[in-house]
This record gives sequence, structure tokens and C-alpha cells, in this order.
Amino acid sequence: MSETKSCKNNLIIFTGPSGVGKGTIVKQLFSEMEKIKFSISCTTREMRPGEKEGVNYFFKSKQEFEEMIAAGEFLEYAEFVGNLYGTPKSFVDDTLASGNDVFLEIEVQGAIQVMKKCPEALTIFLIPPSLEELERRLRNRGTETEEVLQKRLEKAKEEMKYTGQFKYTVVNDDVDIAVRKLKALILGARA
Ligand code: 5GP
Repeated sequence: MSETKSCKNNLIIFTGPSGVGKGTIVKQLFSEMEKIKFSISCTTREMRPGEKEGVNYFFKSKQEFEEMIAAGEFLEYAEFVGNLYGTPKSFVDDTLASGNDVFLEIEVQGAIQVMKKCPEALTIFLIPPSLEELERRLRNRGTETEEVLQKRLEKAKEEMKYTGQFKYTVVNDDVDIAVRKLKALILGARA
């Protein structure tokens, strides 16, 4: 992986365990903010019902993804519960160069890779009110088999150990309050 060209504090890294509600927060945040672009990731995971190519992800075969790794096309990538996920580097570079903020919604290992390359980035870890609540949310979402759900819960416990490495933690208890906090952090970083 190569270094990103324009590495400034308007790169926002948003992480947190699967099921914590990152997607809901992101949707509301983007309906309320301008001059901020969401980085659409590549993944080898299967498309879920309702997801669209180029909207939720760029869906890739394992071979396509590995070719992109070999070509140095990712700012970061990581394996998450049996699938690969990665951030296309060119979008991040081009968007930062155009003066917009870039928002990465990624898992913890990828977030740590980007933090090493861009120590100035705004880093935010979204935490659930409790692990019991996280399990309830994952079950309600109903997108995973029981086996995958258990793996995601195990992964969540691991990921929670890294909260201290992020500049800010936000508890996702109330979506409106969490979005308000995120907005304040992003506006603060711009200032
Ligand atoms: P899901 O399968 O639920 O869409 O995503 C699983 C995890 O992968 C989530 O924690 C999500 O934030 C993370 N993720 C999504 N895109 C990327 C990416 O480009 N890189 C990394 N490292 N993680 C990602």
C-alpha cells in the first residue's frame, strides 16, 4: 500500500463494531452536512437484499480484489469475518484535493492502518451502550446467519479493545445526539 498524497485533517475515520449503527448515523449525517463525501468501499462480501452496486459498495470477486491489492489501489484493506473490505485510494486523494472532506466508514484494523498514514485524521469510534444492546441490534437487523452473527459479536469484543487509540468515542444511545456530536467534531476539525 502506498502513501496517500493529500493527508490532512479533513479525512474522517469513523469506526465501531458491526451492528453498532454506523450506517444509520452516516445516513442522517449526510442528509445534514455539505462538502463531505462518503468513500464507497470495495468488498468481496455478497450483496444483501436492498443493496446496490456503487451505492453501498463496489462488489468484487476475490480475484478482482486481490488484483486491486497487487496494483496498489487501496489506501487500506482488511479481512473482516471471512470477507475482504478496502478503501479505493484514488477517490480519497481526488476528493481531498478538491477541498471536500472524505468520510471513511471502516472496521478497526483498516482504521488503524489509515491512522498510521494520516495521524492528523479525525478519528471517531462509535460504541454501543452495552454488548447486550449490540447483540440485540445485530439480531434485529436480521442480515446475518446465526453463525456469522456469533462471529461478528466475537469480533466486536475484540474491536472494543481498541477504542483508546481513537481521538473521540461517541456512544450510540440516541441517534440524534450521536449525529449532533459527530457534526460538532467534523465542524471543529474544519475550523
Ligand atoms: P458489512 O459487511 O456489515 O457491510 O461491513 C462489515 C464491516 O466492514 C463494518 O465494520 C464496516 O464498517 C467495515 N468496512 C466497510 N468498508 C470497509 C473498508 O473499506 N475497509 C475496512 N477496513 N472496513 C470496511
